Amino acid sequence: MCARSSNDLRPGSIVVVLGTRPEIIKLGHIIRMLGPAATVVHTGQHYDQVLSESFLESFRLRDPDVHLGVGGKSRGTQIGEAVAELDGFLANSGASCLVVQGDTNAALAGALAANARETPLVHVEAGLRSRDRRMPEEHNRVLIDHLGDLLCAPTNVAAQNLLEEAIPDSRVAVTGNTVVEAVEEALPGSEEQRALVAEHGLEPEAFVLSTFHRPENVDDPGRFNTLIEDLRSLDHPVLVPLHPRSRSRLQEFGLSDHLGNIRVVAPMGYRDFLALAAAAAYLVSDSGGVQEEVSVLKKPVIVVRRSTERPEVLGTFARLCEPGEVGEVVADWLRDPSEIHEQLRATPSPYGDGSASAQIVQRIEELVGA
Ligand code: UDP
Repeated sequence: MCARSSNDLRPGSIVVVLGTRPEIIKLGHIIRMLGPAATVVHTGQHYDQVLSESFLESFRLRDPDVHLGVGGKSRGTQIGEAVAELDGFLANSGASCLVVQGDTNAALAGALAANARETPLVHVEAGLRSRDRRMPEEHNRVLIDHLGDLLCAPTNVAAQNLLEEAIPDSRVAVTGNTVVEAVEEALPGSEEQRALVAEHGLEPEAFVLSTFHRPENVDDPGRFNTLIEDLRSLDHPVLVPLHPRSRSRLQEFGLSDHLGNIRVVAPMGYRDFLALAAAAAYLVSDSGGVQEEVSVLKKPVIVVRRSTERPEVLGTFARLCEPGEVGEVVADWLRDPSEIHEQLRATPSPYGDGSASAQIVQRIEELVGA
């Protein structure tokens, strides 16, 4: 652990635990609104320039107050070490509550540590369910929700999932998803979008942006290769900001030579990524956050996953498929992307109106009696 210790924690401080880029994106506004009341702990699950630092900068956030440095280890070790470190940090800290977001190992560690220290727990983006027990994230979500005291569900669908698991209504608030305000703030204007597209040698609305890093797609060489073949067979040029996890698997499986005409670049900062997503013909991704962002950007995404915990966008902004099926989905849905863009422009995002962070901060203040 480095930086501040719990002795430096202000009494009544709101401890925000995060560890990956989506957590920074979705907690950024909340942390800024809490101001000096927040103490930010980064577990180190993803701590490097491309996956964390540039995202802190995008949201004008200061460096985390505490770094635990538990990244790069097995899931159990990461969770165990982060719980132990957080437990020490919370001991006698007088923290008024602990906030986590989503379904990462960092979020589960925060939830377990809060529970062990009888610190009220707030879960941002509660109630998502894929019902797919093969995904570690599904176990993380369920456990966090059952430990949580204030569960901020992004939609009524998510709130309903919680009620069906016998979680009392009094712990649940439907707030919208903070991704809406994150996209609204970070998305560059159309001129900057065009310049960026040109920098990559691409034409607006005539390329595909693709991201993938989930174990189900990249940990099996056969499935990973099938996904690469899917992307190679598309009519439009494909741009892939490659996640470090996928890059190592690609090298490990000797698949780097199979990329053909796919343009692989380093992971991008949030502004650049959103600009390219907004200018793409469509996206192909296994990301959770991208499924939500496209509903604000009004772009279609083909989700290469067995299941999704975000059913709200299925049939409008998103279609699900397995590796090997991307071409079929394009043929069936995206033969004329501009027609789909027009339909989507008239389709509201199911994730709210950009006020989720403000609503969540208000609920947190009520919880801690501020
Ligand atoms: N993203 C980004 N740069 C990239 C690729 C993705 O900023 O090069 C953003 C993307 O907009 C989304 C988030 O990172 O908000 C997705 O992260 P990831 O796929 O790691 O996590 P998930 O959303 O699946 O939890």
